[in-house]
Amino acid sequence: MAVTQGKSGGRTPLIAGNWKMNLDHLQAIAFVQKLAWSLKDARFDFDDVEVAVFPPFTDLRSVQTLISADKLLLKFGAQDVSAHDSGAYTGEVSGAFLSALDCNYVIVGHSERRTLHLETDEQVGAKALAAIKHGLVPVICVGETADDLAEHGPSAVPVAQLTAALENVAEGADIVVAYEPVWAIGSGQAATPEQAEQVAAALRDVVRSRLGDEAGAKTRVLYGGSVKAANIASFMRQPNVDGALVGGASIQVEEFASICRYKAHVGT
Ligand code: PEP
Repeated sequence: MAVTQGKSGGRTPLIAGNWKMNLDHLQAIAFVQKLAWSLKDARFDFDDVEVAVFPPFTDLRSVQTLISADKLLLKFGAQDVSAHDSGAYTGEVSGAFLSALDCNYVIVGHSERRTLHLETDEQVGAKALAAIKHGLVPVICVGETADDLAEHGPSAVPVAQLTAALENVAEGADIVVAYEPVWAIGSGQAATPEQAEQVAAALRDVVRSRLGDEAGAKTRVLYGGSVKAANIASFMRQPNVDGALVGGASIQVEEFASICRYKAHVGT
């Protein structure tokens, strides 16, 4: 499929920037303004490709205010959410609070949460449910380690993680799935587009079998792991890859804007 063609199922591609623990609220304002100007200058069509940023919690109110005041077409979300609604959960942030800030999305199950904070598949599933309950679209991250890849191949672990995360999610729910091989995150060594496609297709099958045919057709499956302006088009050519979850390159404004404009990179 040419990169200029739309995705089947009417899926609008999504380029999502996970800032991780970078940029304070003042830097976030400057960044979002620059990103919006850069895309506007390039006559970027936000109906054609959706762009979302995922700043740290402390930036969200500033980003919300800027997007709303300047009527920017960028979407935004948080990097994590509590499985609980409210109460004695020191340090956690409720989906109700994120929803009150007009967040569109929330990342759940990022490999850094799974590895550094020992989040289990069960907790990731509970967070996905909490997000949906509060009207947020969870971006459910799954991916295999280098050892998993050697032992089981690329699809087995991501498929098992997604199957577990969707266990209690209702048919037809609005979710995004991000396939992020752990060994590709921040390493500079992206998966091949063929591997991304193979796993994305397997993950779409999981969505179809757990959430129904319609959800299987409409759910966006992103690839993440060392995505750059130079390689984004090769992933976007894959029929089951509907966008990217970008880490390091998402806080370099021109690089991220260039990733968003991947349709201009045909032939790279
Ligand atoms: C990520 O952290 O989700 C990620 C994909 O990081 P990077 O793009 O830096 O590999």
